[in-house]
Amino acid sequence: MTTTAGGPSLPQERRLVTEVPGPKSRELHERRTAAVASGVGSTLPVYVAAAGGGVIVDVDGNSFIDLASGIAVTSVGNSAPEVVERVTEQVAAFTHTCFMVAPYDGYVEVCEQLADLTPGDHAKKAALFNSGAEAVENAVKIARVHTGRDAVVVVDHAYHGRTNLTMAMTAKNMPYKEGFGPFAGEVYRAPVSYPFRDGLTGAEAAARTIDVIDKQVGASNVAAIVIEPVLGEGGFIVPAPGYLPALVEYANANGIVFVADEIQSGMCRTGTWFASEHEGWLPDLTTVAKGVAGGLPLAAVVGRAEIMDSVHVGGLGGTYGGNPVACAAALGAIQTMKVLDLNARALGIGELLKRRLAAMAVTFPAIGDVRGQGAMIAVEIVEPGTTTPDPVTAARLSAGCHQEGVLTLTCGTYGNVLRFLPPLVASRELLHEAMDVLEDVAAALVAAG
Ligand SMILES: *Cc1c(COP(=O)(O)O)cnc(C)c1O
Repeated sequence: MTTTAGGPSLPQERRLVTEVPGPKSRELHERRTAAVASGVGSTLPVYVAAAGGGVIVDVDGNSFIDLASGIAVTSVGNSAPEVVERVTEQVAAFTHTCFMVAPYDGYVEVCEQLADLTPGDHAKKAALFNSGAEAVENAVKIARVHTGRDAVVVVDHAYHGRTNLTMAMTAKNMPYKEGFGPFAGEVYRAPVSYPFRDGLTGAEAAARTIDVIDKQVGASNVAAIVIEPVLGEGGFIVPAPGYLPALVEYANANGIVFVADEIQSGMCRTGTWFASEHEGWLPDLTTVAKGVAGGLPLAAVVGRAEIMDSVHVGGLGGTYGGNPVACAAALGAIQTMKVLDLNARALGIGELLKRRLAAMAVTFPAIGDVRGQGAMIAVEIVEPGTTTPDPVTAARLSAGCHQEGVLTLTCGTYGNVLRFLPPLVASRELLHEAMDVLEDVAAALVAAG
């Protein structure tokens, strides 16, 4: 096995030395096929030897420009020095006691930091978990106890996870839900704001959402409205201005707990600590995971102290929730975000990508929409001049980038969105090079007809 050290000292370059995937990756893939359940997929089956900054190096020595960050997780880069240092210290001191058995300060400090970083200066508290889906489940548990109500409202194109309750909350059937029912009850879906497809203003879209809640659920039955401020897996959809503030106002007026699922959009990804800051509204609860801990598994629910404290002692927790090593990683990641001002970097990345993609759209009319906030940017691929989704072209663009050493991801209810989630520490040179590659791949598709 290659033992290249990762982290930011890794050469920041795109370098292909074999075909993709190379012989060593293909060999590992054979072993994987025999040993790993086939229900677990991989976007690009090159096996990783090291990663850092804006690149991933595989076991054959190929170096890919990383536009995925392990799905918006390694925002501070892989093996960021402050994360490595704190994790190394913690792992040598103790690895686990279970916070519910014998507590430790790292957990407390992560909760303090999250209360401080989430918007609003009201009293806040937090609880820590292992995965995003677990955080969403716990936000629902807390909202139900607090309100004494059952119903949970989610929207079209939502993604909230793969556990039983969160599958019910996720919109897209294939691959997330197909065959996995029956699903949890008391989950209701309302339309969302999708400017490229519905052409509605934020106020109009909010009125449509609220009408469905009022008429089909009844406001007084609703424990929580759970929504992603920028819808992630559903297609990087940014609701029209005014949509989210109107929903928050409705929730506040009706005693409904408003939960911002910021698992993908939070922790500097959109150029602010949390995407809710763009329009200045205050969620009651926020779910946090992905980018929070530099790649280690950690998740949180953070929000109004009086809501968080509704639950009886022992009602929240889990064996590993807020594991000390994951907490040390989170403190290192948060420190890195502050010192390197990754919010500013995310805004710079967004500006660079949007400018390049808008220029591409002129010569490549399959790009129907360029959208996103900060370093959460996507293009929606359609049949030129229409809004008809073209998932085949989106898949070809993505596969073409992979062959040329750029790791891209697709998403979207229709599978036709190409999304860009680089580590926030990726250099501008690498991002420009990745956009050059995408431009060439798009041009080759046009030339091939
Ligand atoms: C990824 C994601 C989840 C689920 O997180 P896991 O850690 O995969 O369980 C939930 N909500 C949103 C918005 C996400 O992007």
